[in-house]
Amino acid sequence: FSRLKQGLGKTSTKLSDGITGIFTKKKLEAATLDDLEDVLIEADLGVDTAENIITALRKGRFEKDISADDVRAVLKAEVERALAPVARPLVVDGTHKPHVILMVGVNGTGKTTTVGKLAAQFRGQGKKVMLAAADTFRAAAIDQLGIWGKRTGASVVSGAVGADAAGLVYDALTRARDDGADVLLVDTAGRLQNKEGLMEELAKIVRVLRKVDPSAPHDVLLVLDATTGQNALSQVEVFRQRAGVTGLVMTKLDGTARGGILVAISAKHAIPVHAIGVGESIDDLQPFDAGEFAQAIAG
Ligand code: GDP
Repeated sequence: FSRLKQGLGKTSTKLSDGITGIFTKKKLEAATLDDLEDVLIEADLGVDTAENIITALRKGRFEKDISADDVRAVLKAEVERALAPVARPLVVDGTHKPHVILMVGVNGTGKTTTVGKLAAQFRGQGKKVMLAAADTFRAAAIDQLGIWGKRTGASVVSGAVGADAAGLVYDALTRARDDGADVLLVDTAGRLQNKEGLMEELAKIVRVLRKVDPSAPHDVLLVLDATTGQNALSQVEVFRQRAGVTGLVMTKLDGTARGGILVAISAKHAIPVHAIGVGESIDDLQPFDAGEFAQAIAG
């Protein structure tokens, strides 16, 4: 929890300073509530959550004395309420062998790093893990995945730069099945410059996975970068419609003041949030806990 609390420090300081700045007056008035709503929206919490917090305060506290701590308590409760329904662990329980996890998202959000962190966690549970380097556009992505494979003891299936990603994924799943792997993590490309091309490629990858195992992929995880704020929200919309996203991982919650975006996304889309990234190291991927997140954000 201390890692999360430290990571979300900037988000919570921004909110907390905003709240302290407003609630120096004693009585809760309409103007104070307007100012508070601005602070909440600027912290990327989203209009819906901001309105819920304002409504909760107006109902219970209007024209009454109120302190900054009282406001923070309401903030925590509302954030937790928005997040609790989506906080869900990623379950890889041996039902599918291999359990196929397709990682999708825009370049730079932290897909490859998250693949590495997940591989480390699964290896720690004694699972046999295979990685497929299906971001065949970037030599750096292929190299990175190779490094994560060595570091975690996962085997890696990769091809040359420019190789057909779907063909590579077909080979990877066939090999993972023949080798008795427990988990196959598929890293994909994320070039948004060519959105149609990208979405078609993802659809093709899903089709070839299903040729080998009709129930695959078992998870489609969208990796989002918290520092991109509202952009993350539009990425959810695009990838959800086109790539059948089943769950989210939000990275880079360390050191951003925009951590509130996870609340806005969860209030709008009822997609499970499985894990959060709070740093670049191998052990900086945490299961997502609504209560802890709310506590860390509300200061
Ligand atoms: P990809 O293009 O989506 O595969 O993104 P990468 O995995 O290559 O990550 C892009 C950059 O973000 C790298 O420098 C990572 O070390 C960094 N990164 C990934 N996750 C996190 C995180 O949770 N926190 C921080 N601070 N950096 C991260």
